[in-house]
Amino acid sequence: MDISAVLNKTELNKEDLVFLLGRTAKDELDQLYSAAYEVKKEWVGSVDYYRGLLEFSNRCIKNCRYCGIRRDNEEVERFDTPKQDIIAMARWCYDRQYGSVTLQSGERQDEAFIDFVEDVVREIKAVGDGALGITLCVGEQTRETYQRWYDAGAHRYLLRIESSNPKLYQTMHPSDGHHRWDVRKACLDSLAEIGYQVGTGVMIGLPGQTLEDLAEDILFYQKQDIAMIGMGPYVVHHNTPLGKQVVEAGLDTPEERADRLRLSVNMVAVTRLFLKDVNIAATTAMQTLHPFGREMALKAGANILMPLVTLPRFRTQYQLYDNKPCLEDGQEQCRNCLSARVASVGDTVGWGQWGDSPHFFNNLK
Ligand code: SAH
Ligand code: SF4
Repeated sequence: MDISAVLNKTELNKEDLVFLLGRTAKDELDQLYSAAYEVKKEWVGSVDYYRGLLEFSNRCIKNCRYCGIRRDNEEVERFDTPKQDIIAMARWCYDRQYGSVTLQSGERQDEAFIDFVEDVVREIKAVGDGALGITLCVGEQTRETYQRWYDAGAHRYLLRIESSNPKLYQTMHPSDGHHRWDVRKACLDSLAEIGYQVGTGVMIGLPGQTLEDLAEDILFYQKQDIAMIGMGPYVVHHNTPLGKQVVEAGLDTPEERADRLRLSVNMVAVTRLFLKDVNIAATTAMQTLHPFGREMALKAGANILMPLVTLPRFRTQYQLYDNKPCLEDGQEQCRNCLSARVASVGDTVGWGQWGDSPHFFNNLK
């Protein structure tokens, strides 16, 4: 197959997706990324939007085999951010024109947690008279809980499917009945039915994952009518079952990490080419594997950045993977640093706007 011929096609099929995802030669990657950037410019503009990312608690009832804050990691000191600090950070985001805030945490399903999140959403909604968009990323919940939080004012929800392949998903999670692909998929369906703009995504470079799996992930986004996509490379956490397995198998070398980063940037580009009008995040995990990982993603079609607004005193305790960047920075530094990154690729920042995915509204027409 010839890359120019594939990029010139009006519609890509699964075979084309696999072909594009597998490109490694520099000249082919240049062509792929610049074609994706053109699609970004045409469909969502060369404007990047900010979502202040507030990681408010690392308590988690789950035990995902890859994640540094999994329940069984006893090295982690658990924390909860007090409500008034969360609201103060949301106000900071509003004052600095972030347009929207994302609340992320480990998963809990108890009543106290559900009430807490509902309260926080209500109070953030009052900041600037509803001016701040609110995205939640707090795992699997019942439909009733999702509805309560929606009614309180949250309008977007991020829940990564992690892999659209249920068999691969199972290898990443304990087989204890509490980590089920079909439950996760049903959560995505409930969120969409309630009216949320739904975000999902996958980890890239997982042991056993093929290019076909990744192509299927993109087809899954299409089938689920996903408006926002957040994906990034799998990054080892030293004190997790999967991290240990990968290190012991000699699969965490600089070459392997470079491959995972390239594959992640390819996924951003191919997703942009295929889905066109969705929001795609340039995630922190990309920067973990390369100092300019986020810029690479923006140049390959991503249009969302999530500057950290997690309280500095809690940042070191929220490490899903090793070598997470920005641990030493305050929220002001993250804001300035990311603005410089946006300018360096020739984009502008959509200050003070929600930056909703045009896909969501195109679909309502
Ligand atoms: N508990 C919530 C939100 C926090 S985890 C949830 O699981 O949905 C957010 C995301 O971090 C996960 O969906 C997963 O894709 C990602 N993540 C966790 N561990 C990771 C690792 N070691 N490398 C890369 N991404 C990871
Ligand atoms: Fe908990 Fe989310 Fe980490 Fe799984 S990925 S252990 S649910 S924080």
